[in-house]
Order: sequence, then structure tokens, then C-alpha cells
Amino acid sequence: MTIREFQKAIEAQYFKKDSSRGLGGTFLWFSEEIGELAEALRHGTDAEKRSEFADVLAWLSTLANMSGVDLEAAALEKYGKGCPRCLGTPCRCEEK
Ligand SMILES: [Zn+2]
Repeated sequence: MTIREFQKAIEAQYFKKDSSRGLGGTFLWFSEEIGELAEALRHGTDAEKRSEFADVLAWLSTLANMSGVDLEAAALEKYGKGCPRCLGTPCRCEEK
């Protein structure tokens, strides 16, 4: 499954519900999922980590659907040629 196919699947499953909640409410849900991912990364089992990564990706896809953004195209546009700043793979930018 590609990123685009995943985004389409999430749209088919949740777009009606998500639209009635609105962008602001959906962003709050997304933020909550980020917190749950942080918790899983610190203390979770491997299964819990996988579950929270999936949730974050699903909610990110929902936000993209509501905003008319194609996530796969956006990711490729920015990161498809390497680091957006130095164009390196791996990145050669200095940490500041
Ligand atoms: Zn770089």
C-alpha cells in the first residue's frame, strides 16, 4: 500500500465523520495521538508503538484529506530529492 492509497482508504473510512468535526477539532485529536505516541515510545510494547504510529499516520492523513493535500505528492516534493536544504542523502547539514 502506498502513502496515497493509505490516505484514500482513510478518506473512504472517515471523511464524513471528520468533516462534521471540523479542522480544529480534528487537529486536537491528532495532537492527542501525538501524546499517545510519545507515551508508547517511552514505555510501550512494540505492539503499542506500532498501534500509535498507525494512529498518528491515520490522523495526519485525515488532516491532509480535509485540507485537500496529497500527502504522497507533498512528501515527494519536499523530500524526494534528499534533504530539502543540502539535497544530500544522508543529510550533510550542520547541527546548530
Ligand atoms: Zn541537509
